Amino acid sequence: LPDPGTSTRTTETHCPYCSLQCGVTMTAGDRPATLVPADFPTNRGGLCSKGWSAPELLDHPERLTRPLVRADPGDRSSPLVESTWDDALDRIVTAVRATQARHGHDAVGCFGGGGLTNEQAYQFGKFARVALRTSAIDYNGRFCMSSAAGAAVRAFGIDRGMPFPLADIGAADVVVLVGSNPADTMPPAMQYFDAGRERGAEHVVIDPRRTNTARHASLHVQPLPGTDLALANGLLHIAVAEGLVDAGYVAARTTGFADVRAGVAGYWPDRVERLTGVPVEQQRRIVFALARGERSIILTARGAEQHRSGTDTAQAWINLALALGLPGREGSGWATVTGQGNGQGGREHGQKADQLPGYRKITDPAARAHVAAVWGVDPDDIPGPGRSAFELLDRLGTDGGVRALLVMASNVAVSAPDARRVISRLGDLDFLAVSDFFLSETAELADVVLPSAMWAEEEGTMTNLEGRVIRRRRAMDPPAGVRDDLQLLAELAGRLGAGDKFSGDAETVFTELGRASAGGAADYSGITYQRIDAEQGLFWPVPSLDHPGTPRLFTDRFATPDGRARFWRVEHVDAHEVPDAEYPYVLTTGRVLGQYQSGTQTRRSRSLQLVAPTPRAELHPDLARTLGIGPDDVVELATRRGRARFHALVTDAVRPDVVFAPFHWGGGSSANALTDPALDPTSRMPAFKVCAVAVRRVGGP
Ligand code: SF4
Repeated sequence: LPDPGTSTRTTETHCPYCSLQCGVTMTAGDRPATLVPADFPTNRGGLCSKGWSAPELLDHPERLTRPLVRADPGDRSSPLVESTWDDALDRIVTAVRATQARHGHDAVGCFGGGGLTNEQAYQFGKFARVALRTSAIDYNGRFCMSSAAGAAVRAFGIDRGMPFPLADIGAADVVVLVGSNPADTMPPAMQYFDAGRERGAEHVVIDPRRTNTARHASLHVQPLPGTDLALANGLLHIAVAEGLVDAGYVAARTTGFADVRAGVAGYWPDRVERLTGVPVEQQRRIVFALARGERSIILTARGAEQHRSGTDTAQAWINLALALGLPGREGSGWATVTGQGNGQGGREHGQKADQLPGYRKITDPAARAHVAAVWGVDPDDIPGPGRSAFELLDRLGTDGGVRALLVMASNVAVSAPDARRVISRLGDLDFLAVSDFFLSETAELADVVLPSAMWAEEEGTMTNLEGRVIRRRRAMDPPAGVRDDLQLLAELAGRLGAGDKFSGDAETVFTELGRASAGGAADYSGITYQRIDAEQGLFWPVPSLDHPGTPRLFTDRFATPDGRARFWRVEHVDAHEVPDAEYPYVLTTGRVLGQYQSGTQTRRSRSLQLVAPTPRAELHPDLARTLGIGPDDVVELATRRGRARFHALVTDAVRPDVVFAPFHWGGGSSANALTDPALDPTSRMPAFKVCAVAVRRVGGP
């Protein structure tokens, strides 16, 4: 809306950061942009420090506003210098053509992100398959949501992270959070938990750290990282032994319980206590609370899922939820708490190595035929599945691997596991192009850097953690010289001879996305921009224009062929790395309030620097005493991958045998220089949350 008497205008849009996608009202025009929280259904007027600070970055002095190219095109050690869009795009097209002529189509790859809008994610997947004819595309959500997604598809036949609306959390009698810390990662979501607690609800937090979420809970249990699967199996063992299983629900709505029941028989409470460190009485309290609650919810997040057995761990909690009859029951169920802003939509529209839009399998002939018809190509011309994110990155520059890479909305030099190895692989590429707002650690390595529009400067849709499709609205023009990633892809496609198949207009792309998704699991075909405006977003699936959307899934049937949810037997296995004499402690990584993902944006925010200015590793006072480490001393963490330095935060919030490090920084404080790239066999999720570490003091405060 124009502001009378000035050239400013206000626009309803959403915070650029996490999956809560808080509604904000932006004012932009003849003075620096500002925002205030909106009364949107997810945040209800709340906003965290990240959201409040977001406008600071729109006119940040380090913002990229011109393409950058190497002064000497053949020499990546030559400086990056400003250039024109024509020159930058020409260099990309020349590199693509030369690489594919020499090494084949799959030698050119794409790497996307969960921060892209639905339209951009869709366009990126289509660009890879249609304009580049490559199978080599994946995205950073593989490091985030893939384990929960794998388990949900296996159990329910569909992956919508939260199959019920957020409001159900406030109405639940019991909520168990496993490896989830919304008080720090999405603080406005705590109003739902607060509402529940005020009604007397029981909240249990299962986390190796006493997080800010755990401080509010009625019970906090601190398992050893990597043992959540054993704990879930142990709780199911107790449920069976105590007659707490909802036999009617299991018989009517599920398959496979007998095998799972046999599988958990060996998870005796005292054995589970030895494996996990969770006392028997706490195990019993959790399972009795869940079983007796009229409305009970289990939420898992990255703490449970970023493991070599992450898919099976999420499945173990789903097994427990199914045995207690929770999924599909009003106000109850299992859900995963999505992380990235468009972590949900980012995995639905075809930027994954194994999927086509609408959550379709790329190997399914019917799916290929449907999408090919929308794209106007022959189904046989759509490449098959490619490699998962880490596998793609780990083979960069090798025979059979990608030799020219386009990265969009991702900073893999900080966010990938074993990050220094990934940085070395990026150096092995023949050509690297990166689209970003700032010169990220990945962009610093590129041959060509493209300045992209930020959230407030672009149109599109995002899908939040509930599966609610919302609109990101353009509140202001981007700086001169900056382009939206949709336009960038359309222009590149044009130069590659496929311009007639690509539009740079968000609404046009969204309409096409709807047709491509029609009939798939994530069906957007009944959603329009006008409906989103009128209905405060729509929960997918929305298969027709007169369909009201689906806030709550599974009320009558699951999305499996027989309509029943599937139990799946899963077993505890030790983490890929366990402590030994050389690396005697467990390292776990995670997020802190005031930073987001790889920190490309939040580390540049002046106000967020006040909240989380330096990377700090958390150590228990007993461990600090043993190692002669005092508060704020500089400590070096060493694993089999590398070393990194942090200031010590001595706190009894962590277990004495566990060290916690945040992963938002790169360089000498890169937690992901330490992490283990051992992959989950189903989701290809790396083992971010557990590896063996040695700790030593290297300096004073
Ligand atoms: Fe933004 Fe998430 Fe904070 Fe809301 S909770 S303001 S979406 S970062």
